[in-house]
Amino acid sequence: MKKVLAFDIDQTLNVAKTPITDDIASLLLQCLDHFEVCPISGQKFDQFLIQIVDRLPHPTEEQLSHLHLFVAQGTQYYRHEDGEWKQIYNYPLTDEQVKKISETIEKSARELGYWEEDKLQAGDEIIENRLSQVTFSALGQKAGTEEKYAWDPDHKKREQIVARCKELAPEFDYEIGGTTSINAITPGMNKVFGMTHLLEELHVKKEDILYFGDMTQPGGNDYPVVQMGIDTITVRNHEDTAYALRGILGVI
Ligand SMILES: [Mg+2]
Repeated sequence: MKKVLAFDIDQTLNVAKTPITDDIASLLLQCLDHFEVCPISGQKFDQFLIQIVDRLPHPTEEQLSHLHLFVAQGTQYYRHEDGEWKQIYNYPLTDEQVKKISETIEKSARELGYWEEDKLQAGDEIIENRLSQVTFSALGQKAGTEEKYAWDPDHKKREQIVARCKELAPEFDYEIGGTTSINAITPGMNKVFGMTHLLEELHVKKEDILYFGDMTQPGGNDYPVVQMGIDTITVRNHEDTAYALRGILGVI
């Protein structure tokens, strides 16, 4: 019997960068009665609240105490204590690392003709400093879902950008995630880092965890979890996840 359900967010719990559906919210709430629940994603803390926590229908303090937020690929960890979210740890990038990564991604995307500045909405940006990682979002954060899906459905554009980034700044790791994103991190600061800290913080073993992700193929941002030997369910979308969760909750 698993003790922990861990989830990628983008395309696993939601449609990338949007709040989870009522269905997923209700299923997650039920999961909190039986499991430690750990969303882990490259996104920022405020997005965890908007996309997941705020969508849960009337969670109790007891239920929230079983929700563990592994922000920015688990380089930041938040837990709910005494009625509020508390940051338990944080491992940020240095200013120099952020600058080097940002310049590298911009140069690579420009060379390849994938720097789509003209398509950005007002106030939006392509490269975002998420403290523990730098994220490239080809069309910015605010672009519509359909537009994002259409930009790089086969990952080919991002694979080219990543290949060029690796030539220019091989000291960093680049992972493809979401629909238009590339996350740049220092080696080891991927989901392995987050999952390793999860094991420590929750005092559990690898075998206690079941992980859900949509990018479990080599090069995808969920693949490091597979490589760790953690049991993984590969989903195409949140409907697949809901289906699997119904199965799990149905046999408890
Ligand atoms: Mg994903």
